[in-house]
Amino acid sequence: MKATQLVWLRNDLRLDDNPALSLAQQQGAIEVVFIATPQQWQQHDESPAKQGLKAACLEDIGKQLAVRGIPFHQREVAYFSDVAAELVALCQQRELHAVWFNQETPLDERRRDLTVAESLAEAGIASHALDSDLIVSAPVLTQQGEPFKVFTPYYRRWLQLLQQTQRQPFPMPTAQSDAFEFDYQKPDWAGDFRDDLWPSVEEEVLTKLHRFCEKRLKAYPERRDYPAEPATSTLSPYMAIGRIGPRRLLASIQYHCGAQGMEWQGNDWLRELAWRDFYRQLLLHFPRLSMEKPFKPETDNVIWQQDEAGFQAWCDGKTGFPIVDAAMRQLRQTGWMHNRLRMIAASFLTKLLLIDWRRGEQFFMQQLIDGEFAANNGGWQWSASTGCDAAPYFRVFNPTRQSERFDPEGEFIRRFVPELSSLKGKQIHDPSPEIRQNLGYPEPVIDYKLARQLAIDAFARLKTN
Ligand SMILES: Cc1cc2nc3c(=O)[nH]c(=O)nc-3n(C[C@H](O)[C@H](O)[C@H](O)COP(=O)(O)OP(=O)(O)OC[C@H]3O[C@@H](n4cnc5c(N)ncnc54)[C@H](O)[C@@H]3O)c2cc1C
Repeated sequence: MKATQLVWLRNDLRLDDNPALSLAQQQGAIEVVFIATPQQWQQHDESPAKQGLKAACLEDIGKQLAVRGIPFHQREVAYFSDVAAELVALCQQRELHAVWFNQETPLDERRRDLTVAESLAEAGIASHALDSDLIVSAPVLTQQGEPFKVFTPYYRRWLQLLQQTQRQPFPMPTAQSDAFEFDYQKPDWAGDFRDDLWPSVEEEVLTKLHRFCEKRLKAYPERRDYPAEPATSTLSPYMAIGRIGPRRLLASIQYHCGAQGMEWQGNDWLRELAWRDFYRQLLLHFPRLSMEKPFKPETDNVIWQQDEAGFQAWCDGKTGFPIVDAAMRQLRQTGWMHNRLRMIAASFLTKLLLIDWRRGEQFFMQQLIDGEFAANNGGWQWSASTGCDAAPYFRVFNPTRQSERFDPEGEFIRRFVPELSSLKGKQIHDPSPEIRQNLGYPEPVIDYKLARQLAIDAFARLKTN
């Protein structure tokens, strides 16, 4: 009889297109484990909303496995460092001789996995570490074998490799015995999230993917920057916890591009997914990114402001800049923020308030339902001009111009800043002092022109020092 295999789920909370599940089952019967590490997650600033969604997804996974007669163990320890002992104990108790998992790219996760592999080996248990959730998991390197530091050439090479190494999604695991009841108890670490906005059932998430590709892929390049419109996929909360596999994403793009007479290779949404791969693989090459360090070492010398009142106004969505405030309130109310707004809000904090990007990065992680270290760190360092292929330091978003351009009718602002909902026309982007006073909306916390110059000077000093 073939030995039973253990599949260790981590940041790949799905049955569809899951290599570890699929390949392990080819070896024999499987059991599945998820080990919660709430204290570690707290140290990583993971938000209650993200934990809530994760727990709801685990409930769905447990049900799906039970229908297939596959045992699902849920365990809890405090930190990553406690995981190895828990896994070894489970394997010994259940007489399991091999553990399968899909790798991750952040440093703490990789360190955890090395310790786990060592402990398993010492206990005579095999471990199978498979590729991480990247669309192109082969190394994407320059001709000299170096990592790319700029996105566009990375993307060109990425696309070449993608066309050479196409793979189909892995099938869902098959039933291996009679179905049984799944007994679910909501864990203490599960926070609240807006389940009216974010479905957790795998089938619904896959339907959301297909519907997006069917209805919105074509208009995505033109409409993706307008936050009032449902033009982007809003799939990031699922991508962040591995609820959708990379081959499934690709297959969906290829299918729907084909059906709509478009070339999948040049697809703009696919390019966005390449950014996700880009930031994830950077963590493998540049460990300092996982140590609160900027990609450009010289930018560690920027003298950031200790402006507590400014920081609080930003967090609360009370900066007096309507588009920034609408963005921050969207984040607080839904756990999610539109990409254009993330750039505006991050540029506001780091350039106009000149507050350390790490404070913004941390606040976003604590709030976002899609908080993901690589993308969040990449986005913040891009905005603060400290990162790999970042915005040039003299590029400071003018929040009012951005607002006029990307929310021309003020529709998005009205949705999230109800104080201003009665305003007609352009005045919503920058109401007069009288209107602000009448509507109880704050004065701007900074003078844009002055603040912009101070930021440019602070960065320019680095060049001359
Ligand atoms: C300051 C800042 C912080 C950010 N923090 C996060 C974060 O914590 N988690 C996160 O997933 N994204 C983050 N992003 C990237 C981006 O804003 C979100 O991925 C996107 O808004 C999610 O919405 P969507 O799913 O509708 O995206 P779509 O436009 O539909 O894009 C599809 C998917 O591609 C990926 N993606 C898109 N843009 C980017 C990007 N610039 N970088 C990396 N991946 C991308 C995401 O997985 C996204 O779900 C951040 C960007 C900035 C500027």
